[in-house]
Amino acid sequence: MIDMTLLGTGATVPLPGRALSAALLSCQGRSILFDCGEGTQTALRREHLSPLKIDFIALSHYHGDHLFGLPGLLQTMGCLGRESPLTLCGPKGLRQVLSLIAALSGPLPFELRLLSLPPEGFPLHQAASGWPERALLLPIPTEHRVNSQGYCFRLGRAGKFDPEKARALGLPQSLWRPLQQGQSVRVRGREVRPEQVLGPPRRGLSLVFSGDTAPCSALEKAARGADLLVHEATYGGPEQAELAAEYGHSTFAQAAELAARAGVKRLWLTHFSQTLPEPEALLPLAQEHFPETVCGHDGLTIRLNFEESREKS
Ligand SMILES: [Zn+2]
Ligand SMILES: [Zn+2]
Repeated sequence: MIDMTLLGTGATVPLPGRALSAALLSCQGRSILFDCGEGTQTALRREHLSPLKIDFIALSHYHGDHLFGLPGLLQTMGCLGRESPLTLCGPKGLRQVLSLIAALSGPLPFELRLLSLPPEGFPLHQAASGWPERALLLPIPTEHRVNSQGYCFRLGRAGKFDPEKARALGLPQSLWRPLQQGQSVRVRGREVRPEQVLGPPRRGLSLVFSGDTAPCSALEKAARGADLLVHEATYGGPEQAELAAEYGHSTFAQAAELAARAGVKRLWLTHFSQTLPEPEALLPLAQEHFPETVCGHDGLTIRLNFEESREKS
């Protein structure tokens, strides 16, 4: 199960009711914050989400509208008595940016760990306990005017547990759960591996966060079949396509076309220019290409559950 909340859906300049870019993904009580624009702290509070549950911050790039909320958030975490380490990742340049931010935040009672994500993905339980074994965060190279990356969060799902096989192997019930979670166990001196008692892996969940980007083939590939694609749509109609190309952004239609090509289940648009006072009014521009498009707003939330497997009768 994954919960996703948009905390800020604005680009460049915050507006009343539209904070700058940030989104929170939660899974099994742990959270990743994607970007941290101005207004992130108040948005967290409004949504009753605790900043102390965030143990991973994934920055898409270092433009201020994705970053200026970070010094304040770190300081608040310190004031709340955080002691556990906080891991941050981002594209090239993270160390220099973080040294400036840490100087603004002042001394912190917890460690900041900087991480460069490997292309094959990073298992989140290695950053903090509590993440499911099969939760993975992958970087996606995107096309903006500066070094930038989007993210793909994948939650794998093990095959169905077969109690008959477990009983045949003489496994006590106390050892069933670790096997279901993908861990090998020892019983009477011999090792039992999860694949001995689990069926074939089942479809998991995946969610993609674009950050700022022009339409981008790497993002399309990473989003193939995703349960949710959160894609920027800084600009509205085709008359703004030239502006979008110049600044490394996307229009409503471009984001929707990419979602359709990638075959995602649903698309959320976000990161609206302040020149778009009513992005909802432009939704048909996207839905024409991909009907399952939702116009993002601050506080928009979804819960993604594993699909119920179809049992054979
Ligand atoms: Zn931006
Ligand atoms: Zn940007």
